[in-house]
Amino acid sequence: MIHKDHPRYESLRLRAKIVDAYKNGILADSGMIAHGRGEAFDYLLGEQSTENAKLAVEAAAAALLLAEHPIISVNGNTAALVPDKIVELSNELDIPIEINLFYRTSDRVLKIEKLLRDHGAKTVLGTDHEKKALIKGLEGPRSSSSAEGIYKADVVLVPLEDGDRAEALVKNGKLLITIDLNPLSRTAKTSSITIVDNIVRAIPNLIDTVINLSQTDKVTLHQIISNFDNKENIQSSLKKISKKYTGEDL
Ligand code: ATP
Repeated sequence: MIHKDHPRYESLRLRAKIVDAYKNGILADSGMIAHGRGEAFDYLLGEQSTENAKLAVEAAAAALLLAEHPIISVNGNTAALVPDKIVELSNELDIPIEINLFYRTSDRVLKIEKLLRDHGAKTVLGTDHEKKALIKGLEGPRSSSSAEGIYKADVVLVPLEDGDRAEALVKNGKLLITIDLNPLSRTAKTSSITIVDNIVRAIPNLIDTVINLSQTDKVTLHQIISNFDNKENIQSSLKKISKKYTGEDL
């Protein structure tokens, strides 16, 4: 039991969630290592949403609201940390969720599907018993996607995707929104909109922004997207990290 007064309470609380998810079969062992890498970047970002993360969230919300076939892709870490918020976002936008696992097992897919449904998810794709379609440019099991889900989607929100798949999705013409604490990852650099933030803050921010922009006209939403420059945004995150690293902001 972690005491609320502990100075690292929030970070330790998330770590405990990750360990529980591993023990419950939601998360693969390597998901814990991915979380550790995220923690390190979060530390360097000051463990709060930066101004550039908020700008990326605004562009992401605009893209999701304009999309014809948007989808939210969920992996083990996302299911471990924010299952309730993913479902809330999916229901707010009325869009499906697809389970998309790097280390896929039928057992883990079933557990994540149940977890999402227990939180009120309406449409969960990416399960074992549905029509699959292959994403061009990928080999093996990672090339498989739901025919009605990611394969058909024009806009894909995918927290913590791996670089190869992110590259393939962009090459297949998707507008790819990712959430990744590492601004240097291939996924971050390849995506159309990269939210450099922790999913535990980024998803609630995205829900609020979707609600705020829901009555905004299409022209303004298109402008928000065209004013957003992903490369510039990533560079701002790197500047923030380098200030922390050199002690400039002590
Ligand atoms: P790439 O193939 O894109 O270069 P990678 O191999 O470095 O990525 P993965 O192991 O596929 O990375 O995924 C882990 C990524 O997820 C890391 O970049 C890490 O910073 C990020 N990450 C981990 N936990 C979180 C979190 N809670 N919120 C946002 N990002 C996270």
